[in-house]
Amino acid sequence: MKKVTSIKSANIAAKNPATDTNNGQDNLVRLTEGRLLQLHQRLQGTLDTGTLINRFFSWLNEQQLVGGIEYIHPDENLALFVGAKKPHKAHYVLRLEQHYLGEITITSQKRFTEQDLFTQEQSISVLVHYLKNTIAHQALEKVAFHDSLTGVMNRTALDELLPKETKRAQRYGYNLSVLMIDIDHFKSINDCVGHVGGDLILQQVSQAIQSQLRNSDLPFRYGGDEFLLILPNTHLEGAHQAASQIMSSLNKAMSAKSDQPVSPKLSIGVASYQHGESHEELIRRVDIALYDAKNNGRNCIS
Ligand code: GH3
Ligand code: MG
Repeated sequence: MKKVTSIKSANIAAKNPATDTNNGQDNLVRLTEGRLLQLHQRLQGTLDTGTLINRFFSWLNEQQLVGGIEYIHPDENLALFVGAKKPHKAHYVLRLEQHYLGEITITSQKRFTEQDLFTQEQSISVLVHYLKNTIAHQALEKVAFHDSLTGVMNRTALDELLPKETKRAQRYGYNLSVLMIDIDHFKSINDCVGHVGGDLILQQVSQAIQSQLRNSDLPFRYGGDEFLLILPNTHLEGAHQAASQIMSSLNKAMSAKSDQPVSPKLSIGVASYQHGESHEELIRRVDIALYDAKNNGRNCIS
């Protein structure tokens, strides 16, 4: 393991490069107006934080030798990395108008000079203005596309993503499966534990589902007590396996809770995308499969 030989740590708030003094760094060269304008132009026009950090990395790399950039914002669940990890690090906590905007770590193969650090600080002072926008946009998207109770995506997101996924499967000929999951006798569960207790069950089911997913899988709350999963690159057999793992995971989680008066069970319908069909047809088939599971006595996969 490489030893870290220099760590620079700083709090960065937005600075005005035109008027701020050097704070005793009179011998260091400021970024020219032209360079700063070029940086603004590079960072403009994206509302995606990953794209923004990538663009910032490539710009900074043209000013000085940079190995990699790590950006994290734990509150927003953001952890991005571009380039390669190197032993020398400069770490900045980012703030704009008292708003915390995450932390950035710039790494390099060689020790940073005072000039390097000065350039980084000026560049980051520009970056924070764009980060504020991408983070705000992301937070808005999260509200618009996620179910607040269970944390998975909502119906609006499904309507946006399912047609795209089926088109991709059609065009490139890859496997795509969907699962429709419904809690058995959820009305009785609500009657037994109350609506708040029922909400807790919905969250536990959502957690059991999410615990079994791969990174590329997409979970949605389809409606009341129904969840829909899109499993890209998954054939029918793999989808049945995923369904079975979700059931086991829920049973395990429930048996670990001795104080819970009910133990919810699931009925799951499975369907795989068939070449040439529409996303509506796929949904219709998985709905029928779920109906079959209910008719087959519930607590089963069809
Ligand atoms: P089945 O086995 O046939 O699925 O029977 P079921 O009782 O689960 O029937 P159904 O799926 O039609 O019932 C869904 C119930 O879920 C009805 C509604 O009261 C309840 N529900 C819907 N949304 C929520 C919610 O956000 N929280 C709670 N606690 N209950 C909800
Ligand atoms: Mg139900």
